[in-house]
Amino acid sequence: MSASLESAPVPVGGTADGLGELCVLMKLGEIVLKGSNRKLFERRLHNNIRASVRDLGEVRVSQRGSGVIIVRRPGASDIEVAEIADRMANVMGVVWVHLVRRVPKDTASITDVAVRSMEGREGSFAVRARRRDKRFEMTSSELAGYLGSEIVKAYGYPVKLKRPDNTLYVEVDKDEAFVFTDGTPGQGGLPAGMSGRGLVLMSGGIDSPVAAHRMIRRGLKVDFLHFSGMPFTGPESIYKAYSLVRQLDRYQVGSRLFVVPFGKAQQQLKSSGIERLQIVAQRRLMLKTAEVLADDLKAECLITGDALGQVSSQTMANLTALDDAVDLPILRPLIGMDKTEIMDQARRIGTLAISELPDEDCCTMLTPRQVETAAKIPDLRQIEKRLDAEELAEYLVTTAQVHKPSFLGEAAPARLDTSRAAAVRA
Ligand code: ATP
Ligand code: MG
Repeated sequence: MSASLESAPVPVGGTADGLGELCVLMKLGEIVLKGSNRKLFERRLHNNIRASVRDLGEVRVSQRGSGVIIVRRPGASDIEVAEIADRMANVMGVVWVHLVRRVPKDTASITDVAVRSMEGREGSFAVRARRRDKRFEMTSSELAGYLGSEIVKAYGYPVKLKRPDNTLYVEVDKDEAFVFTDGTPGQGGLPAGMSGRGLVLMSGGIDSPVAAHRMIRRGLKVDFLHFSGMPFTGPESIYKAYSLVRQLDRYQVGSRLFVVPFGKAQQQLKSSGIERLQIVAQRRLMLKTAEVLADDLKAECLITGDALGQVSSQTMANLTALDDAVDLPILRPLIGMDKTEIMDQARRIGTLAISELPDEDCCTMLTPRQVETAAKIPDLRQIEKRLDAEELAEYLVTTAQVHKPSFLGEAAPARLDTSRAAAVRA
């Protein structure tokens, strides 16, 4: 996503001693409220930041006060720093991303860079100044007033303090000052991994990637499980799941995708003559399989893209029947959302176009003409007893192949060990 490039301040040249360099300043949200656990959260966030630019060379990450992080890569070009800023807009826990100039902490240098940053603007402007070092020679409002008057002198823009067309920000820190204009909104939320682990049931559809994004945003680190219709369908749904996970990997680096061929299990269910219960029975078997895998992966919850009433399998009675299949909690972050809202989110997180590619969902094959909207739990349990569903779920997990769809520009390892054992070891 190149949104932050568009709103980058007008580049001004760096100085020989490294000040004036372009770097990234990020504002944090909720994380600043977390009291004594703050250090842990900060460490998690800093690690996530480093992981998301691992392929771009070494960066320096530093905390400024509780709500600001600076990421620098001394010697990098402006384009390279803009790429870092783009990546930061996807790191969970970050509320705003700014490309900033790092300047010496004296009024003359700050004024020089501030005035040059405002060249070629249209409309009104305001200056907002902040000091994290209260010993600086001017108060924040003195500094803002002074810079404002210098900008008026240089360009004659009208000053407008409420809702200006352009805002110039100056933050005076302990060793340096930062000068910047607009920013890009980040994802908000909490750093991925801070709330534990989850396992997402990932179809190739629109909903499950959005559900995954929502839970990553609340601090879960997630793995993904996809059921393909293989051997009765082609591999298209797997390619889609793979691309979707690679896109979601931007928000939590290091994602794993487990793929289970589900066709034969579906056929087995079908031939037991369950008719209208097929879909719910199938979904229960998926959940049971997911629960076995979650145990291996130390995931504490399952995540699905269910939304109440969206399709006939998602009635309240059916969702209750699904909950009954497993002990782990099933998180359904989309439960109260409309399809249009979900689609807007999918577009925003970059998964919609992938989800809309054609594929053959394993559920459409072998789907009965009529779907039970009020599945009865005793009926389902009886079917599962006949089929020995628990054992089938254990078996299905052993057939899983694992992939690591990474969004980073790293060369893939020559030969990927796709066995489940290898993934669990990793
Ligand atoms: P989606 O757009 O996520 O496919 P949907 O509206 O098509 O959802 P269903 O097909 O009933 O609804 O699926 C509901 C949820 O069940 C999905 O969001 C997903 O979490 C899970 N699910 C369905 N099919 C699969 C599959 N083939 N592999 C893994 N999970 C699946
Ligand atoms: Mg679906």
